[in-house]
Amino acid sequence: MSENTVKTEAGARDELHGVGVSPGRVIAPLVHMAPAVSEPPEGDPLEGDPEAATDRLKAAALAVKAGLKERAARARSESAAEVLKATALMAGDKALVKNAGKLVTEQGLSPERALWQAATAYADQMRAMGGYMAERAADIEDVRARIVAELRGEDAPGVPQRREPFVLAAEDLAPADTAVLDPDVVIALVTQSGGPQSHTAILARNLGLPAVVAVDGVLDVAGGASVFVDGATGTVVVAPGDAERDAVLAWQRASEQLASFDGGGVLSDGTAVPLLANVGTGDDARAAAEAGAEGVGLLRTEFCFLGRDSEPTVDEQADAYAEVFEAFPGRKVVVRTLDAGADKPLPFLTDATEPNPALGVRGYRTDWTTPGVLERQLEAIGVAQQRSTAEVWVMAPMIATVEEAARFHDLVVAAGLRVGGVMVETPAAAITAEQILERVDFVSLGTNDLTQYTMAADRMLGSLAELNSPWQPAVLRMIRATAQGAAAATELGGAHKHVGVCGEAAADPALAVVLVGLGVDTLSMSPRSLAAVAAVLRGVDLAEARRLAELAVHATSAHEAKDTVRAQLPVLAELGL
Ligand code: PEP
Ligand code: MG
Repeated sequence: MSENTVKTEAGARDELHGVGVSPGRVIAPLVHMAPAVSEPPEGDPLEGDPEAATDRLKAAALAVKAGLKERAARARSESAAEVLKATALMAGDKALVKNAGKLVTEQGLSPERALWQAATAYADQMRAMGGYMAERAADIEDVRARIVAELRGEDAPGVPQRREPFVLAAEDLAPADTAVLDPDVVIALVTQSGGPQSHTAILARNLGLPAVVAVDGVLDVAGGASVFVDGATGTVVVAPGDAERDAVLAWQRASEQLASFDGGGVLSDGTAVPLLANVGTGDDARAAAEAGAEGVGLLRTEFCFLGRDSEPTVDEQADAYAEVFEAFPGRKVVVRTLDAGADKPLPFLTDATEPNPALGVRGYRTDWTTPGVLERQLEAIGVAQQRSTAEVWVMAPMIATVEEAARFHDLVVAAGLRVGGVMVETPAAAITAEQILERVDFVSLGTNDLTQYTMAADRMLGSLAELNSPWQPAVLRMIRATAQGAAAATELGGAHKHVGVCGEAAADPALAVVLVGLGVDTLSMSPRSLAAVAAVLRGVDLAEARRLAELAVHATSAHEAKDTVRAQLPVLAELGL
């Protein structure tokens, strides 16, 4: 465990700073992510009795199996439970333990080495079979690491299992780590790298966990040290004192106040600002409906495709989409067509060897290289729409030209879908919004990508977090250009051209005010953020939102924009946001 990598003196107060990506304040012991399990040396000899060693092997495999099953029973989603149950089955595979036992008794290897070797042979065989079996090879390697860690008395790799709540510190988190994370035990996340728009940050907001990324030095903090984490300001304090304890209490009081969201997104003058949810699955959608979301502003359909090495059938897709629609009868659900590529690669669609995947064949562009997938997806959305009363809108990600937008709209119409729009995630789309909106029904600003492309700063990089802020005045100008384009297109065509925001910017309550002031109609976010955004919007009228938007656009830096706006919204401090 990295408790050994201690550089800070135990008990000494220290303050670290990063980028706050999900609000909340907690104090708890810090636990480091367990490092990868090292391979036992080749030929590592058995010490002691072979029979006792094989018994230890069996016991370790059973303990791993039992631990995984227990976690599956506590998993927060069906998909996480399935992953854990499948891994538990592999850990309990008798053939694996038997083969390893033979290596102990016949070749005199240590149980750690024997298990490692037997599991590796198993994984290699599966890889050679190709297809689905090859994908399971990584799961065998995961089981291998877990059993070896158990034999050594170490933490299994990944998120350490504890019963008491803790703050998890890591270099960065992989989606697989976060998928099975228990938010009752892991109560905050602090990473050394990772950007504010990374999918880990998005997940933290989904789970409602305070999170700070790009915290230089967090890996040097002693494991077990008490730390204070403020996910709004990005502050991490080692050995916190009374001030931090008071801040945690204030946050607890404020979150009680924010606990109820009545579904109403409205300004103080009565202007409605519908607040929608970003979801990926039926589970998410049901939780969003329960949290009071008025509808779905972004259904990330790639979640239906992730982990697949072939395209799901039209029926499979239709079932997945229908599950989301069912959660919002009569309500708006904006479905985004597949956004594969960059940080969300798909083996059957994207080219893993591209030198710059974020600038490569991703999103809508995969239709150029793999035609047919998009049409079949639109067909599936149409089938799901037939089965529900939800008001289904469809949009394409990563649009850069008017032609692309027009062609996508044609495909939407051809599929019998009623409302077709595109995401504005590139500066090209933002500055041609008027022409785009003459051809499509609506746009939705994907501020995560729009920020990375406007600022030419990879959204995954913690070192560029400063540039990668949607508060950057250049990004705000892109948003304003989009809203102005929509207003011009509305005037020209008569029908209202709707502008939504579905990037993480919408979940920042102060920025939400600015977005409304810039002319955005609806905001879509992770359901956890709805109450805070609603509470702040209720305190301003449209004229004030416009005034604050002007101030932000004319600031000379992201910091200045943010600080100026926040200073004029005292409700933020009152609510601990
Ligand atoms: C965005 O880019 O803002 C967006 C909503 O899409 P994603 O985060 O899935 O890339
Ligand atoms: Mg995007």
